[in-house]
Order: sequence, then structure tokens, then C-alpha cells
Amino acid sequence: MSYDANNIFAKILRGEIPCHKVYEDADAIVFMDVMPQSPGHTLILPKAQSRNLLDADPAVLAKIIPLVQKVAVAAKSAFNADGVSIAQFNETAGGQTVFHLHFHVIPRYEGKPLHIHARSMEEGSVLAANAEKLKAALA
Ligand code: AMP
Repeated sequence: MSYDANNIFAKILRGEIPCHKVYEDADAIVFMDVMPQSPGHTLILPKAQSRNLLDADPAVLAKIIPLVQKVAVAAKSAFNADGVSIAQFNETAGGQTVFHLHFHVIPRYEGKPLHIHARSMEEGSVLAANAEKLKAALA
């Protein structure tokens, strides 16, 4: 399947719809997931267009993973987590719901299960506060 430039993350990348942005450079953007599976759930996207990992340029992947690592380390500290899960889904059968490549950084806490994937919307004020916490930890 080919890339659909009308997916919601493409619209965020074009600035057509807002996000709780944490970081942006020439190649990538980082923002809070609006339906967090755990407090501080963050998404890391390369700007280059691909549906997911399966059709991504390996050069793009080589650049994005160090940023995923940086965000994971910062999120563990910013949200006082015990661990961090990294998730990345490919195609509908693989659990993907938005078809622009992204990596999930999900802070984890001992004994606490995750909320269901892409199910309940968080308050904007909470997302904004978490974006600020993560920005500070990345600085
Ligand atoms: P997936 O494609 O399954 O890896 O998941 C897409 C993720 O994007 C889900 O965790 C959603 O909660 C999240 N999401 C959907 N729309 C938005 C949005 N407008 N801003 C931020 N996160 C979103």
C-alpha cells in the first residue's frame, strides 16, 4: 500500500492540526500521544514519508533510533518511571492505526498494566504539562 498524505500525522507535520510538541528538528518531530497508554506516552516521527517500518528508508531508521533512545531516557527520568516500553506497529493487522511511521515511548511502572491502545483521550492540560516536563528533561 502507498503512503496517504492525508493521514493525521502528515497533517500535524504540515501544521494543519495542533499537537503537544516536545521537540522538532529538520528530520523528526516528537509529541505527546493524545490517548496515552501510560502518563508521558510520547510519539517520535521521522518527517520522511513512509507508512511504517516496512517501507521506510534504512537511512531514515538509522537517524531516528538515536532520537527514540534519547526520548526514552528523558521520559524515564521526567515521569519517574521504572522502565520504558518502545512500540511500533505495522499495518492494521499489526495494530497500526495511523499510517505514518512512528515509535511509541511508553513509561512503565512496576505492577501497573498499560491502558488500552488508542482508547481514551487525555485532558489537554495534562498533555501540555507532560510535554513541558519532557522538554525540560531533554534540554
Ligand atoms: P498506532 O498507529 O497504532 O501505532 O498508534 C497511533 C497512535 O497515535 C495511538 O497511540 C493514538 O493514541 C495516537 N494518536 C492518534 N491521533 C493523534 C493525534 N492527533 N495526536 C497525537 N496522537 C494521536
